[in-house]
Amino acid sequence: MRTLYQFHGGVHPAEHKQESSAHPIVMAPLPTQLIVPLQQHIGQRAKPLVQIGDRVLKGQMIGQADGATSCAVHAPTSGSVSAIEMMPMPHPSSLPDLCISITPDGADEWITRTALDYQNMNPGEVRNRLRDFGLAGLGGAVFPSHVKLNPGKLDKVPTLILNGAECEPWITCDDLLMRERAAEIIAGAKIMQYLLSADAVLIGIEDNKPQAIAAMRAACAATGFEVIAVPTRYPSGGAKQLTKILTGKEPPSGGRSTDIGVQIFNVATAYSVARAVLHGEPMISRIVTVTGNVEQPRNYEVLLGTPVKELVALTGKQRNDTQSYIMGGPMMGFALPTDNVPVIKASNCLIASSPSLFPAPPPALPCIRCTQCAQACPVNLQPQDLYWFSRGREFGKAQEYNLFDCIECGCCDYVCPSHIPLVQYYRFAKSEIWAREREKQQADLARERHEFRLARIEREKKERADKLAAKTQGSKAPAANADIDPKKAAIQAAIERAKLKRSGVTPKNVENLSVETLKEIDEIEARRTQLKQAMEKQSDSPK
Ligand code: SF4
Ligand code: SF4
Repeated sequence: MRTLYQFHGGVHPAEHKQESSAHPIVMAPLPTQLIVPLQQHIGQRAKPLVQIGDRVLKGQMIGQADGATSCAVHAPTSGSVSAIEMMPMPHPSSLPDLCISITPDGADEWITRTALDYQNMNPGEVRNRLRDFGLAGLGGAVFPSHVKLNPGKLDKVPTLILNGAECEPWITCDDLLMRERAAEIIAGAKIMQYLLSADAVLIGIEDNKPQAIAAMRAACAATGFEVIAVPTRYPSGGAKQLTKILTGKEPPSGGRSTDIGVQIFNVATAYSVARAVLHGEPMISRIVTVTGNVEQPRNYEVLLGTPVKELVALTGKQRNDTQSYIMGGPMMGFALPTDNVPVIKASNCLIASSPSLFPAPPPALPCIRCTQCAQACPVNLQPQDLYWFSRGREFGKAQEYNLFDCIECGCCDYVCPSHIPLVQYYRFAKSEIWAREREKQQADLARERHEFRLARIEREKKERADKLAAKTQGSKAPAANADIDPKKAAIQAAIERAKLKRSGVTPKNVENLSVETLKEIDEIEARRTQLKQAMEKQSDSPK
């Protein structure tokens, strides 16, 4: 029996999971239009590979990974590219980003799909294929999976954790996936274990999901993987919190989980890895919980790019008191400014929000320094101090108090008797610090450029002065050069060129060679000359 550890703090909000978990997953039908953003992951936006009017097949790469931290995007169905333009994104600001719109042709015609014989492939090649299959973490962070599946200099990551905790209220997409597709999740975990050379695979699931736990245990038989039921307490599904519960270890402040020999992935990511490697299917769909103020809450398998408006319409007649849609859960999610945005890799849940389900919080009152927020904080921060520093724009102080360790879980908000929107203050402080950092980097770059320009002007001035001085010197002392025979000088220069050529050194790179290397070249040359002379002597001597 594995010993479980406790993380500090946490809360237990009303779960609201039963509403959507009572029905099996259904495949959402083809929408009228698919809007596929090129930036659905952390890192560089994918580069478009298609043009307006192109016919594309289901699973065809339409955006190529651009850089080390990037991954591809694919056509979710067959059809024609109708637009490549800036469209509103599912983000609190709904700021637009570059999207490829596809009008489905209804044929849903796949590309040729080929499974990978991953155990007979170089792990680096498998990772590149995962990048090209568009694999990104489906737990919400959407970090490109091929990067996380690279142990790098470590050779191995001893412990792989699959996160099936799904601790946020209302969300049930991972629960249903584990109940219905456990075998493929485990197949994906085996591939991940292979790529990380992990010794142990631990699967953490909150104990409010007994069916998922049973299905995953059955699928794990004879694998050596451990399925562990963890106490239901928000945010047990946070990467650091689940790692602490299962291993007792915590990454250092500002560090990564690999610093303590652990890599963690969402169960849905493992499922997608199996679909990609074993079936040749890129990431073109995901399971989305649609719940809240809707007639038929449930989970859908949804093509990425499906408009939110068309997805929520599947749940029945829309209710008039729906105010907005929350993407993610009520603790860490955000209200979408419009439903005219697409489902993306990060869209695990859509909650139709109404005043009766989510009443507006009462006006914020002054902080009474009750420290309830500190008791609830799972990262052991002092939220009330961070609040004062953020509010007072003392950003340096906020950083000293580890603002960037805050996972924005909302536990402090949840317990604050003064109803202070604490997380909003932390987000504000973080964005201000990032903006200042960007400004500083730009200023440093501009200063470096200016200094470089001044140095170049100075160097050119000196070179001109030296040339002029040499010319003047030359005209004043013709006798000094008179001794040099131009023919001899040309022969000497030709010899020098030949020496360099034989030694593999070109005039371009000779400047970069060390004194020792140049000495070695001279020695080799001297020996070559001696040998040549000896051979000539021999050939001259009588036979
Ligand atoms: S819970 Fe609210 S009122 Fe209490 S210390 Fe924290 S911020 Fe202040
Ligand atoms: S939002 Fe940040 S400060 Fe508040 S409880 Fe969560 S981790 Fe702690």
